Amino acid sequence: MSDPGPASAPWLDRYEGSLLRLFGRPALVLEHGDGCWVWDVDGRRYLDLVGGIAVNALGHNHPALVSAVSKQAGQLVHISNFFTSVPQVELAERLLSLADAPAGSAVFFCNSGTEAIEAAVKLARRTGRTGIVAAEGAFHGRSTGALALTHKKAYREPFEPLLPGVSHVPWGDVDALRAAVTEETGAVVLEPVQGEGGVLTAPAGYLQAARDITREAGALLVLDEIQTGVGRTGAWFAFQEAGVVPDAITLAKGLGGGVPIGALVTFGPDVSAMLTQGMHGSTFGGNPLACAAGLAVLDTIASEGLLDHAREAGEHLVRRVEALGDERVVGTRGAGLLRAIVLAGDWSGAVVAHARDAGFIVNPVAPDAIRLAPPLVVTTAELDLFVDALPGLLDAATSETQDA
Ligand code: PLP
Repeated sequence: MSDPGPASAPWLDRYEGSLLRLFGRPALVLEHGDGCWVWDVDGRRYLDLVGGIAVNALGHNHPALVSAVSKQAGQLVHISNFFTSVPQVELAERLLSLADAPAGSAVFFCNSGTEAIEAAVKLARRTGRTGIVAAEGAFHGRSTGALALTHKKAYREPFEPLLPGVSHVPWGDVDALRAAVTEETGAVVLEPVQGEGGVLTAPAGYLQAARDITREAGALLVLDEIQTGVGRTGAWFAFQEAGVVPDAITLAKGLGGGVPIGALVTFGPDVSAMLTQGMHGSTFGGNPLACAAGLAVLDTIASEGLLDHAREAGEHLVRRVEALGDERVVGTRGAGLLRAIVLAGDWSGAVVAHARDAGFIVNPVAPDAIRLAPPLVVTTAELDLFVDALPGLLDAATSETQDA
């Protein structure tokens, strides 16, 4: 694996001397970007097929986002929630309309996915019940509340005991879900596609079954669309393709195109009335800068036809991967531009490292799976560059594993 360049190395050393060691030594010191491409401080160029983990929906340096954020920054950045602003109201209204949310639905803005989940946990508690059912493999964030819903043992164990009342059921198993939801259950929280869990799409009918089960039990259905929402799967929100109407969704990641913003959207007047004045809040949440960014992202997704493009480009990727006919590739998972390429062995770490040396940023989402969550503006030609390189990357990765 190639060493960091001469300009990068000292920054990596200084990083290690000054930042908490939560992420290991970073792979790159990035300086600027354009579309799906980023450059490091040594001037090396990379095709960014991860997009800040499903965040940079418009890619890097998109003129619409740059102009909206620059304009807003020159006008008003932050005002507190004693006041509102035009971008805040417009973004809330736009989200409700794009989500086909019924009258009486409402939005709470925060700054991250984790915070949106925290708001959803409070919503669940307002049912008067303390139980929350989540799925095995789920990722909902790292704060102590959201972490209780996240399933991964390594993330949870150092901080236990976590919020009580949370149980996890096998992903996609309707019977297990039905058995777990009781009159103590305030909410079932599910991702339409488990992103961090390995890009695992909900089996057909699972979300509808979750809707039926929660309705019967008087529990809320909260869909965590932090990774799947805002066009990622080829629809505005993945729940729309599943044909279910949840009680709430959580959003973040792509919504600000890289500017931090999260949201809880409550569906209908009854659910929206569950969180009232003083029950929750955020200093930064819903500030005009983040909301202007959100509006620019939504406007651009619509004006550039990025929903259709995400669907078509995702299908193109799948076809191209299949056409390789490489027996070291077992298949693909996911939807739209949230995809995993599944390998026949645990080679993803090595493939990703070789890919980086070859100028591609992809993510080892599981030992045997590579995640692609590129900007929605990625071209099929850019996706082809990676697919064409994949056999060579697999040669390098598998020969290394054999040598080891
Ligand atoms: N929920 C899902 C589905 C996610 O993918 C993530 C982040 O990866 C989160 C919640 C947490 O979001 P954040 O990292 O913005 O707090």
